[in-house]
Amino acid sequence: MSSPEPAGPEAHRPSPFTAAPGGDLRSVDDHLREVLAAVDPLTPYEQPLLDAAGLPLVHGVHAPIDLPRFTNSAMDGYAVRHEDVLDARQDRPTHLPVVGESAAGQSGPFGMPPGTSMRIMTGAAVPAGADSVVPVEWTDAGAATVRIYRSPTLGQHVRLIGEDVAAGDELLVAGTLLGPREIGLLAGVGIGRVRTRPRPRVVVLSTGNELREPGQSLGFDSVYDANSYLLAAAVRAAGAIPYRVGIVGDDPRTFADTLSDQLVRADLVVTSGGVSKGAYDVVKDVLSQLGTVRFVEVAMQPGKPQGIGRIGEDRTPIVTLPGNPVSAYVSFEVFVVPALRRMMGKMPERRPLVQALLQGSLTSAPGRRQFLRGRFTIEEDGAHVQAAGGAGSHLLGGLAQANALIVVPEDTTAVADGQSVAVLVLDREW
Ligand code: AMP
Ligand code: MG
Repeated sequence: MSSPEPAGPEAHRPSPFTAAPGGDLRSVDDHLREVLAAVDPLTPYEQPLLDAAGLPLVHGVHAPIDLPRFTNSAMDGYAVRHEDVLDARQDRPTHLPVVGESAAGQSGPFGMPPGTSMRIMTGAAVPAGADSVVPVEWTDAGAATVRIYRSPTLGQHVRLIGEDVAAGDELLVAGTLLGPREIGLLAGVGIGRVRTRPRPRVVVLSTGNELREPGQSLGFDSVYDANSYLLAAAVRAAGAIPYRVGIVGDDPRTFADTLSDQLVRADLVVTSGGVSKGAYDVVKDVLSQLGTVRFVEVAMQPGKPQGIGRIGEDRTPIVTLPGNPVSAYVSFEVFVVPALRRMMGKMPERRPLVQALLQGSLTSAPGRRQFLRGRFTIEEDGAHVQAAGGAGSHLLGGLAQANALIVVPEDTTAVADGQSVAVLVLDREW
């Protein structure tokens, strides 16, 4: 492994795509391309509206009906003909007979002769012959006859058929992410099912003889399995379905058996640990022999050792992440989130970075893309970010302080206070 060179503007900067000794680091972008190439968009199917929340539409949707579907009242009051109430004034009210009532869900294709009025409730159909609604507050609320003290303008408080949405309009274009507003619109035009790609089923397992399940007692050198929980939660946050298998020891046979048992329910397998260069690196040992999974070193920090490929009869994609919790999480955000987005048809596959002003300064090893933990805030003068937690990839405490990753490019070795940096804001669409 290369040791970082001293940072500074005059420091020698190797090309980001070639490594210092070893020479075989691959770029983050190249590796991401390979990960994306290993997964396919899942086959779409019709699902109930609420199940589709957070997923993109496969096809554009056209309105099957007008909205409003019938001309109706925006107020409780009296439906009138505008010309019958032109002269209504506080000191000289207009008197009209009340010939009926129209209430929401209890109105019909009523008509109303000239010179009359009809009591009407919000959302009820405006009777034929009426063109305006007088709010009840402008009247004496009379039952048989009503006194009207103020004249509405023509069409006031009337919601016209089709003024919001016209039947046949393209309501939502293909690719639209279904959020609350889109779901509300679809329900509002009577569409109860939509075609989306399914949420990927992701089998998550962590490897390591030292690992223990939270709640169990620890031996002298054992650690709790943080990764399978962290990654399963991250799978869910990305909109996919996690199957957390939990801990597998560093035994090749057990690992191989567990994996093949799990394949039936997986659209993607994500493992953590066992991919470095030590003894007992079970993931690498077992999967290297298959010849369908490639282990590489990526020019990033943290997250250098990565593996990608396909396994089993169905050629299920598998991503093998490093074991240090911060490395596993950063790699997940950088490689697995785009893969899941691709499987669900979310565009863009890579979530966009945003620019923020750095508070404090930072240095970064040359030739690697750094993903530093940061705290992102939006203040009156715009977006800011400052480094949070330390640089070590074992620092779970620091990771939980962060809400963003500061992305320092391969050829940048220092960023000064107040300079603009690219940030991946975590737990958000952007
Ligand atoms: P490995 O990649 O298996 O060599 O693991 C690298 C480091 O990450 C070691 O310190 C492991 O103990 C730690 N580690 C591996 N898997 C987990 C896990 N699931 N939860 C917490 N720490 C882990
Ligand atoms: Mg291990």
